[in-house]
Amino acid sequence: QFSRQMSTEMQSVASRLQSSGLLRTQGLIGGKWTNAYDGKTLEVNNPATGEIIAEVACMGRKETNDAISSAFDAYKSWSKLTAAERSKRLRKWYDLLMAHQEELGQLITLEQGKPLKEAMGEVGYGASFIEFFAEEAKRVYGDIIPPTLPDRRLFVLKQVIWLLTLLLLNLILSTNLPNQSCQNSMPVGVVGAITPWNFPLAMITRKVGPALACGCTVVIKPSELTPLTALAAAELALQAGIPPGAVNVVMGNAPDIGDALLASPQVRKITFTGSTAVGKKLMAGAAGTVKRVSLELGGNAPCIVFDDADLDVAIKGTLAAKFRNSGQTCVCANRVLVQEGIYDKFADAFSKAVQNLKVGDGFSEGVVQGPLINEAAVNKVETFLQDAVSKGAKVLLGGKRHSLGMTFYEPTIISDVNSEMLLSREEVFGPVAPLLRFKTEEEAIHMANDTNAGLAAYIFTNNVQRTWRVSEALEYGLVGVNEGIISTEVAPFGGIKQSGLGREGSKYGMDEYLEVNQICMLGGHEPKLMGEVNTQT
Ligand code: NAD
Repeated sequence: QFSRQMSTEMQSVASRLQSSGLLRTQGLIGGKWTNAYDGKTLEVNNPATGEIIAEVACMGRKETNDAISSAFDAYKSWSKLTAAERSKRLRKWYDLLMAHQEELGQLITLEQGKPLKEAMGEVGYGASFIEFFAEEAKRVYGDIIPPTLPDRRLFVLKQVIWLLTLLLLNLILSTNLPNQSCQNSMPVGVVGAITPWNFPLAMITRKVGPALACGCTVVIKPSELTPLTALAAAELALQAGIPPGAVNVVMGNAPDIGDALLASPQVRKITFTGSTAVGKKLMAGAAGTVKRVSLELGGNAPCIVFDDADLDVAIKGTLAAKFRNSGQTCVCANRVLVQEGIYDKFADAFSKAVQNLKVGDGFSEGVVQGPLINEAAVNKVETFLQDAVSKGAKVLLGGKRHSLGMTFYEPTIISDVNSEMLLSREEVFGPVAPLLRFKTEEEAIHMANDTNAGLAAYIFTNNVQRTWRVSEALEYGLVGVNEGIISTEVAPFGGIKQSGLGREGSKYGMDEYLEVNQICMLGGHEPKLMGEVNTQT
């Protein structure tokens, strides 16, 4: 499974991973590690070196259909487990993820490139969703609605609460009801989860945690660029006692896998994180079987630095918001809007901070900026830079490929960027901070909202009234105030406008995987006839 092209150093990382059982190369279908049916494989490369790390199964429609059938079978029993039992197994999964934090971090650095410390941080962040939703699993309540007619009882159920329901019904109606009349498991069903390469673990756990907590089962399709972390996480899910078929992983031909997930009536929901273009295709494709869709798509985050901001806080916050993961984050500060009075001072201090960022292989000591995911990503950054410079922008720092070559790009600051340039219209997804100038608060808000994206925004100010005014005026799903890293498992994450639909994390993240079922029950003895009540649809 290992390429001979691997350096000795990388081989030792890979063999440590293999001996821990976490270097998997087959897909997972119904609890069985499976090759592609036609034997095809796909190379996974280390973006820092181009080395082949592994060759994984390259799957398509047939394997996906089998994974869907397995998930559908597993759903019948997983959804009927008590919430407490599901919670226990998720908790166990969390414990295993954390027990293997180092190996999983190494795997992320190996296939995605981010510095090891950041990769370990991703494991902690990714695992936190499993821990949080293990708890949340126990806290899904329905409602009793005050009825509009005296002899009616109205209940809203969201998960298996038959015992409680039975007691309630007995109490209210003083009658014995058969058990099955109260079985109302309301998870959505089988979920197709399609994820990107920039957070190979966290983008999966953010979906699979709440899905499993609610009683859904999943078919995961990780990015072809980073499938190894997904496979390792699935291995740990099996070890945690999450039953075969509840978590399946298929990777390979993305459009074929996507089409199979979309076509199947057994898949009741698609949850996707990735580019806006692919998200739109999936949303259109889901219409055929009227599936639910959640989309976490691209952003174009403004980072607004007002002249009353604490400069040190603004520099550190912008640095974290822009340069972590080499700028390959959907919530990345894509445009740094700086107020006229402090523009030059900020540009100068920011350049000094950014020039200290050490670039290199994510395994090297002290490196804070790894490679970009591949050469195509570097080419994209170059195109955006050329476009900006040709339209009058000035490179203050960096602005070219790093001497390390391949996929490395210098941390870059570019000033005098305006709204006509690609850099301010689209996600650059690289280590480039474009500076834009504004005069007034109104102008900053207008510039910030002048985009189809609406995921994250940041503001730096010490004026409390301004904090509220601007946060409320920004058309974004997340707003960081004097803070550059704002994602957490306990708060809702998601975008508005073309940045997506739905929320991940927090109790809102659970709602994405639950149906709401209304039960209207005759409480008295006289059924109503047509025309005797105001209604009816
Ligand atoms: P991408 O859209 O190219 O790929 C995402 C996933 O979709 C991958 O697994 C890919 O194989 C799959 N895919 C591609 N074509 C498909 C098809 N026709 N049918 C089914 N699946 C298909 O995105 P990417 O390059 O992996 O990720 C980068 C993008 O993701 C950026 O735009 C970034 O902003 C976005 N992103 C958003 C969030 C968020 O939470 N909003 C988080 C991370 C990344």
